[in-house]
Amino acid sequence: MKLPKAPRDFSMLINGRHVPGTGSMIERVSPAHDVPVSRIPDGQPADVDAAVAAAREAFDKGPWPWTSGGERAAILTKVAQAVREHSDELAMLETLETGKPLTQSHAEMEWTAGLWEHAAALCRQLYGDSCNTLGASTLGVTLRDPIGVTALITPWNFPLLIISQKLPFALAAGCTCVIKPSELTSATTLILADLIEEAGVPAGVVNVVTGRGETVGSRLAEHDDIDMVSFTGSTGVGKDIVRASAGNLKKVALECGGKNPLIICDDADLEGALDAARLGAYFNMGECCNSSSRILIQEGVADRFVQMFTEAAAKMPVGDPLDESTKLGAIISGRQADTIMNYVQKGREEGATVALGGERIETSTGCFIQTTVLDHVTPESCVAREEIFGPVLSVIRFKTVEEAIEIANSTHYGLSAGIYTRDYDTVIHAARRLRAGTVWINTWLQGHAEQSFGGFKQSGLGRELGRNAVEEYTEAKSVVFQTGARVSWW
Ligand code: NAD
Repeated sequence: MKLPKAPRDFSMLINGRHVPGTGSMIERVSPAHDVPVSRIPDGQPADVDAAVAAAREAFDKGPWPWTSGGERAAILTKVAQAVREHSDELAMLETLETGKPLTQSHAEMEWTAGLWEHAAALCRQLYGDSCNTLGASTLGVTLRDPIGVTALITPWNFPLLIISQKLPFALAAGCTCVIKPSELTSATTLILADLIEEAGVPAGVVNVVTGRGETVGSRLAEHDDIDMVSFTGSTGVGKDIVRASAGNLKKVALECGGKNPLIICDDADLEGALDAARLGAYFNMGECCNSSSRILIQEGVADRFVQMFTEAAAKMPVGDPLDESTKLGAIISGRQADTIMNYVQKGREEGATVALGGERIETSTGCFIQTTVLDHVTPESCVAREEIFGPVLSVIRFKTVEEAIEIANSTHYGLSAGIYTRDYDTVIHAARRLRAGTVWINTWLQGHAEQSFGGFKQSGLGRELGRNAVEEYTEAKSVVFQTGARVSWW
């Protein structure tokens, strides 16, 4: 697989035109190969203002909010098709910018296309409500109006997948959008925007402003002409966005961090649990909001399971993401690698034992960390409560299922949780008591466009996907019809 000889230059998309922006360029170097991959404009507040003005005009005066569901469905279906047709190019760029295995990037392109198809199907399903019980001369109807101009702010770990959890549903509702991808991984979002325009979305409906969070992102969050901001990223930045949004009380939807517990009971199918836990801990190098970063293991099987897990995890190939056999690629940046290694050190200081890994991997290029297991972690310690966002699993032991549920619910997060057990009563009890947006029973990391996705507590606000994915981007409007002569108020 050939690495690029020179970085590919990208421009922003504002009002249907490719524009270089008013700032300088940001270069992205492949975190696995140290090779320059792409250059994007370092967007400035003036670029955000231009993009918001274009999206505002496209919403207030343009045809898009008034196109039929059928027309929108046809366009979104074309985008899904275009993603499939460009999947080699998109997957390669995704891997070069993120460091994730190329085989995984290819799979993500198929999920992405599926999300556009799900949104296309929902375009024709945006029903409001009606009320026929208001008396003989009154009829009530509730319309779902598009909320307006939306800002969509995304992180670096699943760039194309995460924008596709938002954008097609906003478009299906009739909204217009200004997208701000992560400054580390903007390339595939910019290509997607071109594919959307080619599919027939009018100029100004989809705009992309690249650049940094503290300039582009914060300007979007505070902007008076934006009606809704949908953000995926860290809980800390999510709180900044809530504060910045107060100026015009825009709607805020947040998909934030997690410290997701997978409970494994004495009676569990240990082989199945092992497979789920390996995927949960190391998928996307652990840089995954839904990572099973905490294993809660019952004492009867704890030693056996930790031994099985460390043996299996030690065999997982870490290295060049372009190599087909690689399961874990590079860490996104040197800064993130430092954060991960600091957590490993903190875990040691807090009394955990490093049962596997715990070191950087020395390579001629790039930034790689061993699959790591911290055992005998206590529920109060930092490595049990904070999101590490790397290939580091914290193992916590418990005696009773009640105790496990209490530990599972004891962090500020509530994105996902899971349990492995063969006991029917325990399954139902845990599914009801675990405070998380997704609860997996005898599985992990199965996501479906048909089911809602989001977090309890500080893992987020609102829900993406599922039956109501388009409704998230609408406002309810009550319309009252009076028939016949009006009875005078006077
Ligand atoms: P981040 O919060 O640092 O950045 C996310 C996006 O926000 C980026 O585009 C960034 O440039 C922008 N941003 C930064 N500061 C901003 C500000 N002040 N105002 C507006 N925008 C700003 O997150 P990250 O490091 O890119 O991604 C990792 C985090 O994302 C993890 O916490 C992870 O759990 C979370 N995440 C959550 C989900 C989910 O669906 N719940 C999915 C993926 C990632």
